Amino acid sequence: MEKFLRQALPDGQFPDVSATRSRTMAAIRGKDNRTTERKFRMALVRSHIRGWTTHAVLPGRPDILFPEEKIVIFLDGCFWHACGRCGHVPKSNSVFWTRKLEGTRRRDRKNTRNLRKQGFIVMRAWEHSIRNGKSLHQFIKKLQHVRRLISEAHLQKI
Ligand SMILES: [Zn+2]
Repeated sequence: MEKFLRQALPDGQFPDVSATRSRTMAAIRGKDNRTTERKFRMALVRSHIRGWTTHAVLPGRPDILFPEEKIVIFLDGCFWHACGRCGHVPKSNSVFWTRKLEGTRRRDRKNTRNLRKQGFIVMRAWEHSIRNGKSLHQFIKKLQHVRRLISEAHLQKI
């Protein structure tokens, strides 16, 4: 979608958004995403959690997939996924951004629904909660709890 949008726009720029701003936004997204993801992956490793892969080819491209347990995790960037706590709409060209960010939220909900229909457990974490040691720890605990429940349910079936 992003690629399509860039190709569709004249000069590959968002209308009325300065080239610098557009570049800055792209850089922020790439860097923040990588940082959040790395931090989360390191937390998984530290907690001796195995059996996951990254960038699964599934609706919405979940950041982490546990294929055995069918758990997917999305690490949502606060700006791009319009986090209610720290997300904000840029002042310049706000109509464009409002529409774009709302579209992302809508797509997130749709992907979550589709994945659940396919039998996945969908977990989402905000970028700000991954940055915070305490809430990251809580999320990892929740993940471990869910995995335990799933393995117990499997055992009962045997
Ligand atoms: Zn946030």
